Amino acid sequence: MIILKNEQEIELMAGAGRVAGLCLKMLGSKIRPGITTAELDRMAEEFIRGMGAIPTFKGYQGFPASICTSVNDVVVHGTPDGTRLEEGDIISIDVGATLNGFVGDTAATFPVGKVSPLAEKLIRATQESLYAGIAAAVEGKTLGDVGHAVESVAMRYGFTVVRDYAGHGVGRKMHEDPSVPNFGIPGTGPMLRRGMVVAIEPMVNAGSHEVVTFRNLKVVTQDRSLSAHFEHTVAITAGGTRCLTKV
Ligand code: MG
Repeated sequence: MIILKNEQEIELMAGAGRVAGLCLKMLGSKIRPGITTAELDRMAEEFIRGMGAIPTFKGYQGFPASICTSVNDVVVHGTPDGTRLEEGDIISIDVGATLNGFVGDTAATFPVGKVSPLAEKLIRATQESLYAGIAAAVEGKTLGDVGHAVESVAMRYGFTVVRDYAGHGVGRKMHEDPSVPNFGIPGTGPMLRRGMVVAIEPMVNAGSHEVVTFRNLKVVTQDRSLSAHFEHTVAITAGGTRCLTKV
């Protein structure tokens, strides 16, 4: 069941989205060779709690950390640990913040120092596919339109979108209906209506779209190719589509 949000609730969600967005931006400024993902996690938790919010991911399905850190061939749900980032790595960071009972969910992939031309292109393609998806997410269009827009960009770059994981509705819970796939047939699927809030989150692989999921939730590309991930939480409102996690 899709839970529609009223204007006041969307305002509250914008507060949560802002905390998540600011945290992600802060983390992006800290990324350098030698830092560990556990250090990034500690900074994230301190930042989120310092803003009076709660790190949404901590304890979610047993997840032990405040952020997901997914390096190179890890698609999503990597657990922060003592691993030091190395020059040439790419790291996807996913942040969830709960404030006033609502969740904000956002992610981005960052280069660590100088990265390969392929890695650069993958990051650019994935971010561009997210913005194509957001541009398609307008009242009256469908989730098929959104998924088609996302996948079209990835394909144009010669990359693939992960099909086993998708975006989702967001509200008082991190994962609500509907599922928001990163592929689709235009004009099909649930229609976007005023009051819907969804996380659009393309996961784009440099190789095959196939992934493997481990017991600790970590998802990696089956062919070990690089993967990137960008995500924003967006609200369909009377005044147009509003990105709640962009800062
Ligand atoms: Mg999400």
